Amino acid sequence: MKGLWFSELQTPSIGISCLTKATLHSEKTEYQDLMVIDTVAFGRMLLLDGVIQTTIKDEFVYHEMIAHVALNTLKNPKRALVVGGGDGGSIREIIKHPSIEKATLVEIDRRVVEVSKEYLPEISVGLQNPKVEIIYDDGIKHVKEHKNTYDLIIVDSTDPVGPAVGLFAKEFYASVFEALTDEGIFVAQTESPFFEDQLIRRVYKDVKDIFPVAKLMLANIPTYPGGLWTFTMGSKKYDPEQADLSNIPPLNTKYYSPEVHKAAFVLPPFVQDIIKY
Ligand code: SAM
Repeated sequence: MKGLWFSELQTPSIGISCLTKATLHSEKTEYQDLMVIDTVAFGRMLLLDGVIQTTIKDEFVYHEMIAHVALNTLKNPKRALVVGGGDGGSIREIIKHPSIEKATLVEIDRRVVEVSKEYLPEISVGLQNPKVEIIYDDGIKHVKEHKNTYDLIIVDSTDPVGPAVGLFAKEFYASVFEALTDEGIFVAQTESPFFEDQLIRRVYKDVKDIFPVAKLMLANIPTYPGGLWTFTMGSKKYDPEQADLSNIPPLNTKYYSPEVHKAAFVLPPFVQDIIKY
């Protein structure tokens, strides 16, 4: 079809291309190239260094799964931390849980938050909520400086390049463990099982070395490489696969449900092989 196409090179040998309607915003921040474009298939899209972060069409899958599986595993979560996640989607889902008293977002790049507020109101809407605190800092430093503070820590990061490299390191997971309360749980986006199997294997092992419970779960996100996406969880006490989901709050979700919660831990053999030691 005629028109302007945006292409992201997802790996050195594959890419995704979308027919665009408009470029809404483009700037170079202190940390990265930041763009918001409008596309025919996925609606508005946030790009960092040319990499798709989130889109209006499919963001619900990622944000619902990164938040609700862990939150519904906990008995009475009060304090949550999102590391990265400047678009606000994870925060929007967290504050749907009535037990949450405070949700803290630690984003390194202030402009991601500001631009998301302006161009992606459907995703960033929760950032206005009085329970939400926004801190502009490096998540690695923040986590290191807060011991026994959070019931939930979500690592909603960019791919492991630039300032996000340390968010995939064992040392960071050890400080996440320390920053969690006694029954705390942590979840991180951990990339594609088709193209990042070695990373997933290493992260899963690191988390398993540190946390009594380590789990990998899957969700389908069409704009991420390969479509099938992994999340790695570390829990101090509760097994998210065994969570009692009979009394969860009304969440108004489009992907997450108690059935999907359980199903997300059913791994195809090729994914089981990735985390087999
Ligand atoms: N859902 C997205 C994905 O999987 O592509 C991630 C979205 S969110 C926009 C990622 C955010 O992590 C970016 O805004 C980036 O600035 C932030 N980030 C990267 N490294 C960070 C760090 N060390 N501390 C805090 N935020 C960080």
